[in-house]
Amino acid sequence: MNNRNERWQGIKDNPQYPVVIAGGGINGIGLFRELALQGVDCLLIDKSDFVAGSSSKSSRMIHGGLRYLENAEFRLVREALHERNLLIDNAPHYVSPLRTTIPLFSWLGGMIKSPLIFFGLPVKPGGRGAMIVKGGLTFYDFVTRKHRRTPRNYLSSKQKALRDIPGLNPNIVAAATYWDARITQAERLCIEMIQDALKANPNCRALNYVRLDGAEKDAVVLKDEVSGESVPVKLQVLVNATGAWVDVANAAIGLETKFMGGTKGSHLVIDNRELFDALGGQMVYYEHGDGRVCIVFGFMDKVIMGSTDIHVDDPDEARCDEDEISYMFETLRDVFPGLKVSRGDVVYKFCGVRPLPAASGEFSGKTSRDHSIETTEPDGGRTFPVLSLIGGKLTTFRAFAEQTADAIMSRLGVERKTSTEHIPLGGGRDFPSDEAARAR
Ligand SMILES: Cc1cc2nc3c(=O)[nH]c(=O)nc-3n(C[C@H](O)[C@H](O)[C@H](O)COP(=O)(O)OP(=O)(O)OC[C@H]3O[C@@H](n4cnc5c(N)ncnc54)[C@H](O)[C@@H]3O)c2cc1C
Repeated sequence: MNNRNERWQGIKDNPQYPVVIAGGGINGIGLFRELALQGVDCLLIDKSDFVAGSSSKSSRMIHGGLRYLENAEFRLVREALHERNLLIDNAPHYVSPLRTTIPLFSWLGGMIKSPLIFFGLPVKPGGRGAMIVKGGLTFYDFVTRKHRRTPRNYLSSKQKALRDIPGLNPNIVAAATYWDARITQAERLCIEMIQDALKANPNCRALNYVRLDGAEKDAVVLKDEVSGESVPVKLQVLVNATGAWVDVANAAIGLETKFMGGTKGSHLVIDNRELFDALGGQMVYYEHGDGRVCIVFGFMDKVIMGSTDIHVDDPDEARCDEDEISYMFETLRDVFPGLKVSRGDVVYKFCGVRPLPAASGEFSGKTSRDHSIETTEPDGGRTFPVLSLIGGKLTTFRAFAEQTADAIMSRLGVERKTSTEHIPLGGGRDFPSDEAARAR
């Protein structure tokens, strides 16, 4: 059933699925695959192209989240490092280790601030020096000691760092190098996961340009954005995996929620040979004067730099604006004062919204990047529960999908058939995993 009209017709002919997943980003698709592999029939829809949301607007890092250690998010960092290493194994066609260097401007900076942040005091992050960074990286290496997929971190002298990365700010005192990972094509990985799911369970369906548009007692109303036609689909569980749009999609089915507090993040794609060569295939991860962490790295034959972190109310209105471009150039000049990079080198810009939980904190960078499920139980007018997925990164999608699938299966009375921890993703099956292939 490859024709879109036939698939829409198939849904209309038999409008009932135990599970409907609204939102085809990494989290909805990861869950679709997870449930299909357990033999659960489900329907995945997206109002737009699959992976059109923040899953295609990220920094493409598959990372433990070094910065989250300062917020004492050890559980998240442990989980993310574990998932990072699984992705290096299961999706070697897109995920590979990434050498990352942090320029350090002091030895002892952050020794007072970071512990205060760690204990939850409302202190603006920033000024992290060599000792604090080294502590975080040592934790990284310790957590991954039994399933090591990347080399250990090390500190370099100022002289060595300036030799290795031409144009770097000469005011550094040292540099720290460690490894995380990168994903080259998150979009393709997602499409391959949909294909894996449909192959594992042919009763599942995935259709884009279909919007979650309303609810009846025991059904959701799905609207075909192509024909304008609507159809009620009966279900037992609804998963709202619409990322930054979670509250908007809940409103469409009559639920008033305030789960989300998304922040937009923009990136610039830069065509500048000098900067590309200076990076030498690695990422530079640096702190700006305002405490925000920024990144710059080579991608194909260009350089990507980002990102900002600004609260937005309406995800549909998020754009990379002039102020953000100025800000990103300012941060780059601070770290690479020796290189000439101009606005004329920008060939593309993109902006996405992080599906973060609503938070009252003053500094958006401190909002938890962990994931959670908000369950709205059935009420008089609605017979099915709604599971809203909050947060969830590219890195941790499998773990989040596993936790959500377990919650759904316990409601459906279905036993887990298999763990997805060691199942290759899409074209990762039989992909040569030697170092040469990884370094391509
Ligand atoms: C700037 C930035 C940088 C990031 N960097 C990283 C990184 O380096 N590493 C990392 O691991 N994570 C990163 N993230 C986080 C990560 O990208 C997101 O957390 C993740 O992609 C969220 O996926 P999602 O599936 O929840 O949401 P999305 O990918 O946004 O998917 C939601 C989908 O729901 C659909 N939808 C909305 N409303 C409806 C409706 N009514 N009916 C049907 N469908 C609907 C949308 O069209 C969309 O496709 C970054 C995020 C941003 C914004």
